[in-house]
Amino acid sequence: MNLYPEAINSKLPNTGLSIFAVMSAMANKYSAINLSQGFPDFKSCPKLIELVHNYMKKGFNQYAPMPGLMSLREAISEKTEYLYNAVYNPDTEITVTAGAKQGIYTAISAFVKEDDEVIVFEPAYDSYVPTIKLNGGTPICVHLKMPDYKVDWNEVRKLLNRRTKMIIINTPHNPTGTILKEDDMKELERITKNTGIIILSDEVYEHIIFDNHNHQSVCRYPALAERSLVLSSFGKTFHNTGWKIGYCVAPSNLMKEFRKVHQFIVFCVNSPIQYALADYIKDKSNYENLGEFYQKKRDYFLKLVEGSRFKKTPSLGTYFQSLDYSKISEEDEMPFAEKLIKEHGIGSVPISSFYNKPINNKILRFCFAKSDETLEKAAEILCKI
Ligand code: PMP
Ligand code: GLN
Repeated sequence: MNLYPEAINSKLPNTGLSIFAVMSAMANKYSAINLSQGFPDFKSCPKLIELVHNYMKKGFNQYAPMPGLMSLREAISEKTEYLYNAVYNPDTEITVTAGAKQGIYTAISAFVKEDDEVIVFEPAYDSYVPTIKLNGGTPICVHLKMPDYKVDWNEVRKLLNRRTKMIIINTPHNPTGTILKEDDMKELERITKNTGIIILSDEVYEHIIFDNHNHQSVCRYPALAERSLVLSSFGKTFHNTGWKIGYCVAPSNLMKEFRKVHQFIVFCVNSPIQYALADYIKDKSNYENLGEFYQKKRDYFLKLVEGSRFKKTPSLGTYFQSLDYSKISEEDEMPFAEKLIKEHGIGSVPISSFYNKPINNKILRFCFAKSDETLEKAAEILCKI
C-alpha cells in the first residue's frame, strides 16, 4: 500500500526529471544520435586510465582524506596559480568533490538559509534553482539578454538587497556557449563591493574556450576571489564525465563552511582516481590544448550544418552549439526536440528547459563532443530537415 500523498508533501513539487535524463532516455529509446546530454562519445586518454588501473592494483582503494588527497590538492593549487595567478592553500582552501554538481549542492547548502535570495542567470544549469529551493532560499532569476545572452549588470544591481546571499555565475556558459568578459567581471566586482554577497562561480568548462579568448576565472580578480567558491570538473576536462570528480577552491573562511557540509554528503571521493589525477594534471599539455581540440570540433560541426535551415548562434566556449530552427517550424522547443528524436533520429536539448518560466526562442542545444563520424551523421540529418 502507498503512503497517502499529503504525507509525502514534496519538497520540490514542481520539479520533474532532469532534462538530461529525459532527452538521453528518449534518444536511446528511439536509437537516435544523442547530441543532447553533454558527454564525449570518444575514448579518454589511455595514460590516465593506466594510472588509475595501476593505483587500484597497487592497493590504493580505501577512503581518501575528507577534503581530498593532499598530493592532488597540491597539484590543483599549482594549476590554479599557474593559470590564474591565484594562490590557494591546499590544506585549507581546496576540496575534491564528487563532480562539480556535488560541489554546487554543497556550496549552496553551506550558505543559503531560509528566505535568502540567490541571483541566478537564465538560461541556467539544471541544479541551481532546485538546490536553492531545497535549502529554503528564493531564486531570483535574471534573463540573459538576447540575442547574445549578455548580462545586464544594471538590472542585477537593482535586484540586490539585504536578503541577497549569493550570485551564481557560469562561464563558459551551459547551455549558450557564451563567456563572461573582463568588463563583466569588473561590473560584478563593482556591484558586490562592500556587500556580504557570496559568489558561486561554476567554471567547469574553464579549459574549453575558443577564438583566443581568455577564461575569466573569478580567481583572477582578488576582490571577487575573496568572496567566491569556484568549481571545476575533471569529467569535462579529461573526457570522463562518468567518473564524477571535480573540485572547489575558496578562501579558508568559506571553505571551512563548505567542508562542514561536504563531509556529510560524500565525506570523500574515490581514491585511486585522485592518485592518478595528481600525477596526470602535472603535465599541463593534458589540459592546455583542450580549447583548440574542441574549437576544431565546433568548426567542423558548423561547417557540416552550413547548408541546413538551422541558424547558428556564436559558441565561444563549452562543447555545446545552439541552433535556431525558426526557419523550419513555429513549434515550441520541447515538441520540436521530441520530433527530431522520433522522426529524424537526432537528440538535442531545448534551451527552454533551462528556464523556470515558459519561453520559446526556437533554439536547441547540440553537444559536439563527438567523433567526426558522429558529427557527420548528425549533420547529414540536420541538413535534410
Ligand atoms: N555545471 C555545469 C554548467 C555543467 O555543465 C556540469 C556538467 N553537467 C556540471 C556543473 C556538473 O559537472 P560534474 O559532472 O562534474 O558534476
Ligand atoms: N552537463 C551535462 C549537460 O549539460 C549533463 C549533466 C547531467 O547529465 N547531469 O548536458
